[in-house]
Amino acid sequence: RPVACIVLGMAGSGKTTLMQRLNSHLHEAKRPYYLINLDPAVLDTPFGANIDIRDTVNYKEVMKQYSLGPNGGILTSLNLFATKFHEVLGLVEARAEELDFVLLDTPGQIEIFTWSASGAIISESLAASMPTVVVYVVDTPRCSSAVTFMSNMLYACSILYKTKLPLLLVFNKTDTWMSDLDAFRDALQEEKSYMGTLATSMALMLEEFYAGLTSVGLSARTGEGVDDFFDAVQRAAAEYDETYGAELAARK
Ligand code: GDP
Ligand code: MG
Repeated sequence: RPVACIVLGMAGSGKTTLMQRLNSHLHEAKRPYYLINLDPAVLDTPFGANIDIRDTVNYKEVMKQYSLGPNGGILTSLNLFATKFHEVLGLVEARAEELDFVLLDTPGQIEIFTWSASGAIISESLAASMPTVVVYVVDTPRCSSAVTFMSNMLYACSILYKTKLPLLLVFNKTDTWMSDLDAFRDALQEEKSYMGTLATSMALMLEEFYAGLTSVGLSARTGEGVDDFFDAVQRAAAEYDETYGAELAARK
C-alpha cells in the first residue's frame, strides 16, 4: 500500500518546490509514485502531476461565473474538485499494489485547505483508504523570530489536532538558514518581547506538542536532507498504523 503525504504550509514555504524535489528524487530512485496537484491557481506546471485539479476546473472561469475574488475562486474550485475526489481515490486504489507514495500539493494559502469542508473531505477519505501523513512545511528563514516561529507551530498544532493524522515537520530552505527544533526552543525561552509570559506559557504547552512530532531539516532547492525526509515519512506511516489506522480497523 502507498503512503499518502499531504503537503501543507504557509504561502511561500516551498510546498511546490518540495513536490518538484520529491518528484525528481523518486523518479531517479525508480520508485513508483503518484503526484496530485490540488492548487488550481499554480501558474506553470512545475512537476508533471498524474492528477491535476486544473484539468477539471478552471479557477479563472469559476471566479467569473460566481463573481469571486482569487481566494473565493480557489476555494470554490477545491469544493468542486472535492465532490469528485472519490474518482481520484478510485484511480489511486486501482494502482495501490504498485505504488509507494501518493504526494499531494495544496493551494498556496494554507487555510483554503485546512479550514474548508473540502480539505477535510479530501484528507479524511485519503486517510480512510491508506496510511496518510501530513507534511507541514516551514519557511525556516522566516521563522528566525521566536514569535513568528511560535505562531507557525500553533498552526501546525491546530492541524494535528484537527486531522488527528501523524504530522511531519519539515524545516525547509536549510540552504539559506540552518536551524532545528532545539534552536527554536532555546530562542523561544529567551524571548523577552512584549509577549513575555504568554510566550513562556505557550512554550511549555508546545513542549508537549513537540514530544509527539518528527521533524527534518531539508532544502527543497538543493535536495539536501531528502533521504532523512523519506525515513521520517516511513516512521510517520508506522505511527498511522498504530493510531489512526488501528482506530479505523476497530470501528469496522
Ligand atoms: P508554496 O507557495 O509553498 O508552494 O511555495 P513555492 O514552492 O512556490 O516556493 C516559494 C518560494 O520559495 C520560491 O521562490 C522558491 O524558489 C523558494 N524556495 C522553495 N524552497 C526553497 C529552498 O529550499 N531554498 C530556498 N533558498 N528557496 C526555496
Ligand atoms: Mg505552491
